[in-house]
Order: sequence, then structure tokens, then C-alpha cells
Amino acid sequence: MGWGQGNPRAILHIDGDGFFAACEVALNPSLRGKCVVTGAERGIASAMTYEAKARGVKRGMPLHEIRRVCPEAIILPANHETYSIFAVRMYAIVRRYTSAVEEYGIDECFADITGLRRPLHMTYEEIARAVKRDLSNELGITFSVGLAPNKVLAKIGSKWQKPDGFTHIRAQDRVQGSRPNVPFGTGGSPAVLHGKVKSCTPPPEGTLEYFLSHTPCEKVWGIGPQTAALLAQQHVMTALDLARKDEVWVKRYLTKPHHELWRELRGEFVLPLNLEAKHNYQSIQKTQTFSPPSNDQSFLLSELSKNCENACSRARRHKLFTRKVSFFLKTQTFRYRWIEVKLSHYTALPTDLMKVVQENFSKLFRTGEQYRTTGVTLHDLTDSPPVQRDLFGAFEATTKASKVFERVDALCARYGKHIISLGSSFSALHPHSNEDWPLSGYIRGQSSVNSNSHPETRLLGPTSGSLASKSHAFTRPQLKGETIRQHLVIPLLGSVQ
Ligand SMILES: [Mg+2]
Repeated sequence: MGWGQGNPRAILHIDGDGFFAACEVALNPSLRGKCVVTGAERGIASAMTYEAKARGVKRGMPLHEIRRVCPEAIILPANHETYSIFAVRMYAIVRRYTSAVEEYGIDECFADITGLRRPLHMTYEEIARAVKRDLSNELGITFSVGLAPNKVLAKIGSKWQKPDGFTHIRAQDRVQGSRPNVPFGTGGSPAVLHGKVKSCTPPPEGTLEYFLSHTPCEKVWGIGPQTAALLAQQHVMTALDLARKDEVWVKRYLTKPHHELWRELRGEFVLPLNLEAKHNYQSIQKTQTFSPPSNDQSFLLSELSKNCENACSRARRHKLFTRKVSFFLKTQTFRYRWIEVKLSHYTALPTDLMKVVQENFSKLFRTGEQYRTTGVTLHDLTDSPPVQRDLFGAFEATTKASKVFERVDALCARYGKHIISLGSSFSALHPHSNEDWPLSGYIRGQSSVNSNSHPETRLLGPTSGSLASKSHAFTRPQLKGETIRQHLVIPLLGSVQ
């Protein structure tokens, strides 16, 4: 594929080191050098500084285990909003060098710097190091960078040396030629193949074969545990074992994506960069801290309702859906009580989430405790959820409710956030109001108010009928001089079934 002829491709993979924890340290320099762990709101470590890693803290470790192995660990709740701001800044810094950037994840991206040596008067390595230097200088976070002829190898490069590493896997070192076709089951190790001393010689350090021989198959980007197990059965243990398989074998035993991956392991450029700007949120989180602390159940539920509305509104704005939600209560003494629930279907509707929150609230709430913060996180977001039809009409109800929330979004875009909201969010939005609103199952709205006049409150409803028709009346322009503050209360769940 043109290696050694003309311009080889130069692809960077840039990966933030312990990104969430590193963002926390960047924001609060007094944490530097300490064992910082994020994930307090879920009860498990989501990221950690290298100091914590050195003490044995691992991703997914429960909090009590973290406290056991590393008692001095500073355990913080993950703040995904902040991390996505860091991500946006990271992409922007890389785009100063090349517009060909793939926003692969909240803490990682690919960049194609092919052809930039002459205009920038730098070698590819110098460009890679300059990008890395700018990132860490400006964000206060270290990054590990891989430079290689394609994405799969650039990924291996960025993982090679962490943290703060730079690894160049060169184009001209691609795996040469095909091995003879190995009958299935005879194994791929060179010694078994030919029994020649030459085959047993380890590849020279720094060559492509050297990197591949030190990379187990399961560490290759795109090889999942099942494929790794299948490869292991065939004695294909390392990326080099796989790269040395011939095409007939690969086509026979592996899928098309793995065929492409195999070609990239051998040094070809196959997988293009996806240059569309993505809002690749893995999760969306909304939290609220309030003062004074409270142990009023309905107030706390209302705060959670507002968190759900805000998180879902953001998800809908980016056309994302979740199937896993977690929510937490944080006590005045900074203890977290949290729960994570898998939903029966993908959704971006706060009404679906509130059902789960209400069902599980009593598992978190303790009457004797004062709470200062609530939070909701939508996990495993996807923009293309599988359509699930069911026998019980939930699909139809969801479709109707989605239309209601389309109108809600349109109203909020026009008149401002929270101009219309769930009844259950009322106490959180109006903590000093004496009005008593239905806790759930209602949508509540108010029209814009002429601030020069004293608003008269008018209650409409509860009424039957859909929000779509009512909200039309609701948005009708006010008559000149009319100073009515309109409250609209509509039974949401009843109206959409
Ligand atoms: Mg990372």
C-alpha cells in the first residue's frame, strides 16, 4: 500500500493520562502529587492519578476497597461537565496543527498530520511532541501520544509508555510478507511454524514487529474478549502472531472489521479518521448543591427531578439516549449514597428517569441525615438506540411523550430554561414558594411576564388534553398591555397514554 513510496501516513493518537483525576488536579493545584480518585458519586473509581494507581487503586474498585489500599486517597465525585470542557479545549489545541482530528472520546483523539512536515518545517516526531507539549502546558494535564502509520498502531503507541509518554512506531518497519498458511489449530508461534532458529530471534527493539510482539491480542484496539479467546485457542497470543497470519486464514476465521485491523497491524493505512465534530459524551451529569442542607424528602426528590430534567434536556439537544442512570444523595458530612439502575428501554425523557428515582429513593434516604447535594448521571449514551417495540404499549407512550418534550424543548429554546418544567421540579425551582404543586405526573409552565407590572396569577388546569395543543395557546403572543402571568398545569402522564 505504498509504504516507502511518497508520503507515508502519519497518524497521532493522543490520550489523556488518568484524565478525570488529572482535570481535578488541574483545577485544584493543591491536589498535585496526591492520590486523587474520581467516582465518589457512583461508589467506584472511574479514574485516578498515577500516585493512586501506584498504591494499587484500579478502575472500578469500590470505595471501601480504595480506602483500604490507600487510606489517604482523596475521593471526588466525577464532574463530567467540566471534563467535557477540557475535552473541547484539547481538540481545539490539536486542530491548531491539523484540521483532520477525530474526537474519539472525552480524553482521546486521533489526528492526521500527513504532509505537514514541509509547511511546519518540522519532522513528524517534532510535530507530535509540539502538540503534546502545548496540551500539557495549556491544560495542566499530561498526555501520552502514539505516532504511527495508522490508527490501530497509533493506539498501541500511546499505550506503550504511560503516563506522559511518546512512542513512534515507524511506517517502514511494517510486518514483511505473509507467513505460509498455517492449518487451523497448529498454532502461530514462529518456532512451531518452521522450527528454525531465525524464527525464534526476538524482533529488534523499536521495530514494528518488536512493538507487536509485546502487545497481547486483547490489548489491541478493536479486539474484544471473545475474539481474543478465539485467537488464543488458535495460539495467536500477540499482535505479532496475528499480523503474521496470512490473508486466507484471516478471511476464513475473522470478520471484516478484524480483517481491516489485521491489515493495519501489518502497517497499512485502512481505517479513515471520522472528522465529524462529535459530542461524544459517554455520560451526562447534573448535580445541585443547596444551602441549608435538607432532609425533606419531597424537596430532595424535587432537586433530583430538576437534575433529571437538565440532564435529559442536554441529552436531547445532542440526540443521545441512555439506558443506565445513577443518582446520588450527598450528606452534610460528605458521604455519598448512590444507586445505579438499568432501564427497560433507551430514553431521554425525565419522566422515565423520575419513575426510577421515585421507586428507588427510599433505598438512599435516611430520615436522620441532612443532605446537601443531589445528582443524576446518564451513562452509556448512544445516538442510535435499537428500536424496541413491546406488547404493553410502552413504545407508543414513549413516542407520544417524546413529542411532548419536543414542544417543551422548543418553548425553553424560545422563552428560556425552566419556563416550562415538570411539576415535580417545582420546589427545587422555587424553594421559597408556598404554592403546593403536584409532585409528579404534571408539566408546569408560565408565560413571560411584563416586569413593569404586578403579575396576576392564573391557574389553568389540571386539564385533559395533550401539551402539544395547550402549549400552542400558551405561546400565543400576549395582548398589548396584558400583564398576566400564566401558569399552566397539565397532567403529563395521563395525557400521553
Ligand atoms: Mg485516557
